[in-house]
Amino acid sequence: MPQLFKVYAPRFMVWFAISAIGCVLLARTELAQLREAFETDARISHRLLSQRVVQHEAVLATLALLQPAASLGSNDSAEQRLPSVYPQILSVQRRDAGAAWLGTGLDAAEKTSRTGRVAVLANADFTLARGRYQLVLAAQPASYALLIDIHGTIPWNDWSMPVQTSPVRVTLEHAGQAFVVQAGRIKTGGWRFAFHKHLDSVSQPFEVVAIRQVGWLELPWLAMALWTFAVAAALAGWSAWQRQRSARRRAEALLRVGQVARLNTLGELAAGMAHELNQPLTAILANTQAAKRLLQDDPGELPTALQAMDQAVAQARRAAEVLGRLRRTVEQPVPTAPGQTVGLAQAVRSALDLLEPECRRRGVVTAVHIDQPVLVLAERVALEQIVHNLITNALQALDAVPASERRLAVHIGAAKGMGVLRVLDTGPGMAPDTLPHVFEPFFTTREGGLGLGLSLCETLASGMGGQLSAQANMPRGAIFVLTLPLASRP
Ligand code: ADP
Repeated sequence: MPQLFKVYAPRFMVWFAISAIGCVLLARTELAQLREAFETDARISHRLLSQRVVQHEAVLATLALLQPAASLGSNDSAEQRLPSVYPQILSVQRRDAGAAWLGTGLDAAEKTSRTGRVAVLANADFTLARGRYQLVLAAQPASYALLIDIHGTIPWNDWSMPVQTSPVRVTLEHAGQAFVVQAGRIKTGGWRFAFHKHLDSVSQPFEVVAIRQVGWLELPWLAMALWTFAVAAALAGWSAWQRQRSARRRAEALLRVGQVARLNTLGELAAGMAHELNQPLTAILANTQAAKRLLQDDPGELPTALQAMDQAVAQARRAAEVLGRLRRTVEQPVPTAPGQTVGLAQAVRSALDLLEPECRRRGVVTAVHIDQPVLVLAERVALEQIVHNLITNALQALDAVPASERRLAVHIGAAKGMGVLRVLDTGPGMAPDTLPHVFEPFFTTREGGLGLGLSLCETLASGMGGQLSAQANMPRGAIFVLTLPLASRP
């Protein structure tokens, strides 16, 4: 369960974050569009209403201008016809010089109008039931007053919003009174857009107030849901593609590793062969050349030449045996039961015999200590290879010390049912950090070394049911200990 959570939690977070960002952007875009539409409608309403109320000033100004005609009595009919031309004008009242206004409030308005020389508002009643006001213009000889119906003032034909269904609430406000032009739908919650602007009229500076409440339900839920699903689908596709890609990569890597492993194995085999065959081939070469020289220079040295030839033959056999063994190893990689009874002393002698010229050349003093004759169960060639390798390593190590200090000893004995063979040298020995690694394949401190000799020896020893180990010699040098199962108890 925690594993599943670990795998899916980050994906869920990514999905959630991308979905949330997208939804917020969609909602913001929708809100911005709604706001723009609202402001456009509100501005149109303001402009239309401004145009309408300005007409009232124009009508009053015209009536005031037509005074002379009025005095002739013909203006009466013009005044009476006005409401039919302007339906919002309910009635026109004229106060001739010396006469009085019908109704209250008009005197004061006329007085203000006279000083200000503009039309003045009177008796404004913005209640929905009545919704009317008067507009008075003082003039000479007669002053005029219009009774205006607010509802009639609204230019319904040009109105940009559907009055019954529009969510926008529009009111005309004046001195704390509000005439509801359009009820709209005002709820709580969500976002509120508001528009406040006075009409462009000096005499009727009513404030147009438009309110739009956008509810949560008006958000683009469908688009947001589609976006959320699209993100989920894209993420699922992406992770499927990722899975496929990493599966492909893994398969390719495995193939590469397999190829490298095969190459390595081949390389190790080739390196092992080169390592094992180099020694006998060098000896064959040296012996054959020596024999040839002896035969050419002095035919009397025939026995020595024959001895060199014998050695060459022995080395060639050894090389052939190594090859045969390698072939068998390839066919049957793990040597199972060791078959032959071999004397440890015999194997040591044979190896020292082969390496005798090397020892001589280096001035190495060799010694063999046999506690008791020891017969072990082993493959003779494999055992000889191990001993040969251990002695060669010792000789190489002794190169690092002065010729006078070069000693090599081989001890043969038995302990705990095992034959024990020790190869000791007085070389520089192994540093404490080198010692644990000497049996690792390709571990070498020797310039031009392959690092396969000891690993091969250890493989061979354990293949025969034995063991190979290393330790420090005292006061200096190295000891390699080979144990092999005894062929019979001594
Ligand atoms: P190589 O001889 O190719 O280096 P080996 O497997 O034979 O590979 O030996 C591995 C390493 O073990 C050597 O490089 C050396 O450091 C160390 N070693 C082996 N034999 C001796 C020895 N007699 N004295 C000191 N070091 C040794």
